[in-house]
Amino acid sequence: RVNREDFMRALDEVHPAFGVSEEELQQVIQNGIIHYDPVVDELLKSGLLFVEQVRSSTRTPLVSILLHGPPGSGKTAMGASIAQASEYPFIKLISPDNMVGFSESQKVTAITKVFSDSYKSPLSVVVVDNIERLIDWTPMGARFSNAILQTLLVLFNRRPPKGRRLLIIATSSLRPILTDLGLSETFDSELRVPPVSSLRALEHVVQEVELFPSDQHRKRAMRMLEEAGFGGRDDLEPKLQIGIKKLLSIIEMARQEPENVAERLTGALMELRA
Ligand code: ATP
Ligand code: MG
Repeated sequence: RVNREDFMRALDEVHPAFGVSEEELQQVIQNGIIHYDPVVDELLKSGLLFVEQVRSSTRTPLVSILLHGPPGSGKTAMGASIAQASEYPFIKLISPDNMVGFSESQKVTAITKVFSDSYKSPLSVVVVDNIERLIDWTPMGARFSNAILQTLLVLFNRRPPKGRRLLIIATSSLRPILTDLGLSETFDSELRVPPVSSLRALEHVVQEVELFPSDQHRKRAMRMLEEAGFGGRDDLEPKLQIGIKKLLSIIEMARQEPENVAERLTGALMELRA
């Protein structure tokens, strides 16, 4: 059981009263940001435009954006990167991962605290990660915590006090349910984070993480993938759809068997398709 003291200590550890939780941000961008497709730069650029808007426009003290896309497409890392790049004095991440074992009311308290702390800083960015897990969304019977949902709705729409500005970056893998929950109208903008969906992008990733010892090895693997039907260079229809998170974990798995890296990679991707 978690007693009140443990809870307050946990809150302090997870959310320092003021400032930037550098470690927390770093942790979710563990594998860095790989620029495997032009869309990656476009997303970062769009995010930074909102950062600049909040910084410079007195008319929009509150801006909220939603990063949505399939599981593992890189939403959390992208949101954290934009937040980190803002260099705002207050940057916090609200993540269900940091609230394991919290009761509903403890979650409400923790979420509310991050926002009230943010109102003390002239410029703040709050990343609200994985909305569906924050509200304990269960597809079975479409259940969720209404208390947490209501808290988010209020906080997403509350203007910060005079002279304070806030950028909210939310993430979700379940864009469609947000409409039913009444959450989608609260966002000023939505950015879709797509999966890796071309061999060209995949090749960029394996090159970046130096999976193969030489260009020759890499090209051989790419031919193998093409023959397995993952699409050629000029194939318009994407035959590959995989979140960067999953792709990176498959790559690390394939790396374990240096003699058969290409085979392992191809095999794992074919299994996903099956
Ligand atoms: P989930 O749906 O499980 O919440 P997610 O979409 O939030 O997953 P992340 O947890 O952000 O995905 O995982 C993406 C991983 O890929 C991170 O480890 C990140 O460092 C790495 N990564 C590499 N390149 C990119 C990129 N261009 N964009 C996002 N993440 C990237
Ligand atoms: Mg995530």
